Amino acid sequence: MSRVFVPPQPMRDALARIFDASRQAIDTVRIVEHSRFARLHGRGVVATTRTDAIHLAGPGRAFAADPELVLHEYFHVLRQWNAGTLTVFRYVVESLKYGYRNNRFECEARAFARQHMTDFTVLLRSNRDALGI
Ligand SMILES: [Zn+2]
Repeated sequence: MSRVFVPPQPMRDALARIFDASRQAIDTVRIVEHSRFARLHGRGVVATTRTDAIHLAGPGRAFAADPELVLHEYFHVLRQWNAGTLTVFRYVVESLKYGYRNNRFECEARAFARQHMTDFTVLLRSNRDALGI
């Protein structure tokens, strides 16, 4: 059954810093775990995104345990869907031209996640330490 998943506070705080966004903007992104919508996108699909939404095929805990995936999916939402550059139509056109892996939306998300992984994990650790968790 699909459910809303809320990432731990240290993670939401770290995301706000990395994306230079308000906490409200981060909290507006709805994460649905065990999402039938995500599973409709095929076997092997871990997540699919829309404006202000991340749909996970599996549990939210597994998602939150993978910082690079977290950055990747939030990038799709905050910098592509919410910015209006990513639409279903554009994504399909890009994928038909260049394939799933090499379409520009995926390349941008991978590059962003790679570029910010170190800062993100450092922030996560210090936010957890500050809360004593
Ligand atoms: Zn992606």
